[in-house]
Amino acid sequence: MLTRRRVLALGGMAVAAPLVAAAARPGSGSRSRGAPDVLIIGAGLSGLNAATLLESEGYRCQILEATHRVGGRVCTARESDVPGHPELGGSGIGSSYARMLDTANRLGLTLVPERLRTTAPRNELMYHLCGEGILPNDWPGHRLNPFQDAGDRKVPPEFYQFTKYGLYNPLPKNDLQAWQRPEFASHDVSVFDFLRKLGIPEAAIALVAGTNMSYGTNVHDLSVLMWFAIANWLRADQEFGGNAPRAIEGGNQRLPEAMAARLQSEIVFGQHVTGIRSNADGVEVHTIDHQVRRARFCLCTIPFSALRHLRLEPLPPGEQLNAIENIGYTPVFQVHFVPTRRFWEEDKLPKSMWTDRKLGRLMALHNDPGRPDEVTSYIAFVNGMAAKYLDRLEPQAAADYLLEDLAYIRPSTRGALKVAKVWSWNRNPFAGGAYAYWKPGQISRLARQVAVPGKRLFFAGEHTAVLARGMEGAMESGERAALEILSAM
Ligand SMILES: Cc1cc2nc3c(=O)[nH]c(=O)nc-3n(C[C@H](O)[C@H](O)[C@H](O)COP(=O)(O)OP(=O)(O)OC[C@H]3O[C@@H](n4cnc5c(N)ncnc54)[C@H](O)[C@@H]3O)c2cc1C
Repeated sequence: MLTRRRVLALGGMAVAAPLVAAAARPGSGSRSRGAPDVLIIGAGLSGLNAATLLESEGYRCQILEATHRVGGRVCTARESDVPGHPELGGSGIGSSYARMLDTANRLGLTLVPERLRTTAPRNELMYHLCGEGILPNDWPGHRLNPFQDAGDRKVPPEFYQFTKYGLYNPLPKNDLQAWQRPEFASHDVSVFDFLRKLGIPEAAIALVAGTNMSYGTNVHDLSVLMWFAIANWLRADQEFGGNAPRAIEGGNQRLPEAMAARLQSEIVFGQHVTGIRSNADGVEVHTIDHQVRRARFCLCTIPFSALRHLRLEPLPPGEQLNAIENIGYTPVFQVHFVPTRRFWEEDKLPKSMWTDRKLGRLMALHNDPGRPDEVTSYIAFVNGMAAKYLDRLEPQAAADYLLEDLAYIRPSTRGALKVAKVWSWNRNPFAGGAYAYWKPGQISRLARQVAVPGKRLFFAGEHTAVLARGMEGAMESGERAALEILSAM
């Protein structure tokens, strides 16, 4: 909850009069009367959190959402589509997710353990690399293991790069803003350059950092400073409580739904915003059906991958525009399957796979807490260039491609998986990828510019977060933007 003191602390004396005026405004909080004070574009966590806070100060918001649901990149599959209703987007809620946890508690939602999706227990995982199936216990002695050092050879390939980010992280512990400070600009280099400097051979870099990349599309287009920032944040999260990540009972989407249900502000669905024009008096927001809506302020929470297709007048200043047009968004492509046969019992191999093929990671999901050993569904979680490739195919053709390739490397799977859902974050025009990532050089040049407000236009969204990341970053950004708008009022 915002308090008057917090707003004053942020914005100085200028905010005092408008706050009084707002509190006295007749009809404030009504769902339909008059033009809103703030038009918010996007009903994801950042937009909903900003609306909650602005509303609590007596301001009227209207949220324009392109799709027909709230939550944006927090999206839980329907049980009727995929048994166990896995998360398609935001999954784990960490110990330091104060805003998420507080909001869930206030709305009476129950927290449960996260349902793992992209990692598998060691006894459930096997590798498939360079055309060969490898069991985890065989990895340290395997001929495809690229490392000389006995200690390095023992590290599972999917974790190897993180040991280096832990060891060489230049960012001061618990200083979560440090990653944006100029003094760390010399670390804003590619993952490849960083690992190569440590003497790691190119082929090894491709394996440990370029396979199933969580961010970016290849080891040359991701800044290692971003990994340092994430490592620093995860370290702080550990110190905060170190609990295993949690999730919302029934699916994370229940959180934005509950936030939306509590709002007084109107959420208008099916409003594909195509342009924002602002001047000294206010803002005009244009939608694809040629409607124009007006307000005193606009808060734009949509990812830059979507914003770069809007018409903005006036154009944002140079480096902000550069960021809007050029920061990266990680392609993520998912195919969800329902197993029709327990093929892992037939071939006696682990249920899940980490591969260097287009298939990416094939993960067995155990989403029924009452039957933890049961596989409720499978997911092929594909990132990076492979996701981009699959995006070019029709959804069914992409799923068939993966199934055929899987049957080639693991014959027991032939006919044992039924496609339940194909989902691309990249192809979704209102997401344009799963999450923002910084290319080499972009953090030092652009990170502090992304959220600089205009006179009437403000920015929020996970890509503008400074301290936290992911869902909590989205909430943080909504809070920061709400405070900025209150100051401007
Ligand atoms: C696969 C995946 C896994 C993830 N895993 C995690 C995780 O484990 N933990 C974690 O913390 N986070 C995770 N995240 C990230 C987290 O889900 C996001 O950071 C967060 O939900 C983003 O919220 P937001 O409000 O910034 O943006 P969004 O949720 O994207 O909200 C923006 C809204 O704007 C709408 N919109 C876009 N364009 C327009 C337009 N032109 N007109 C009108 N409306 C528009 C969109 O439809 C959307 O509803 C994951 C995300 C993905 C995709």
